[in-house]
Amino acid sequence: MKLDVLHVLRSPGTEYAFSAEQAMAPQTIGGMEVRLDPVQLTGVMMAGDDGSVTLDGKLTTVAHTSCANCLAPASGTIEGEFRETFIFEGDPEDDESFAYTGSALDLEKLTLTYVLLNMPMRFLCREDCVFEYEDTDGDVMMLCQDDLNVQRPFAALQQLLAEKSDNEEN
Ligand SMILES: [Zn+2]
Repeated sequence: MKLDVLHVLRSPGTEYAFSAEQAMAPQTIGGMEVRLDPVQLTGVMMAGDDGSVTLDGKLTTVAHTSCANCLAPASGTIEGEFRETFIFEGDPEDDESFAYTGSALDLEKLTLTYVLLNMPMRFLCREDCVFEYEDTDGDVMMLCQDDLNVQRPFAALQQLLAEKSDNEEN
């Protein structure tokens, strides 16, 4: 969405509160489609003497995708903090800054940037949904904890998790 900053530009050096909602297209993360609830942005904005506008705030949304382990529906909250300056008639192709024209900021690029920065590498349907692992024959297995509890003694699961974390550290 466009955030009107006309009143901010008229009083450089004065902080104004803002809140905005940015709708996002689905993203593909690690081969998984991730749908996002409209992203809520809140914070303060302030104009500089050079016509730039700095936004200092936080964003939050809920992402919906599939569990990286068992493919059940999984969702998680994404939260992040940002502080970015929008340059009046800056270069929109510049990845290091944000640009605006007229008297409104387009929040889509900033929102996408900070949603991706704060996106977890993978989503699980629940915290204890176990990752894939190799069994003794070298086959890659993908089991949830419910499966393990039914099919194996709990000690076997603990052993498995210990081995996995050892592998990840090396
Ligand atoms: Zn799962």
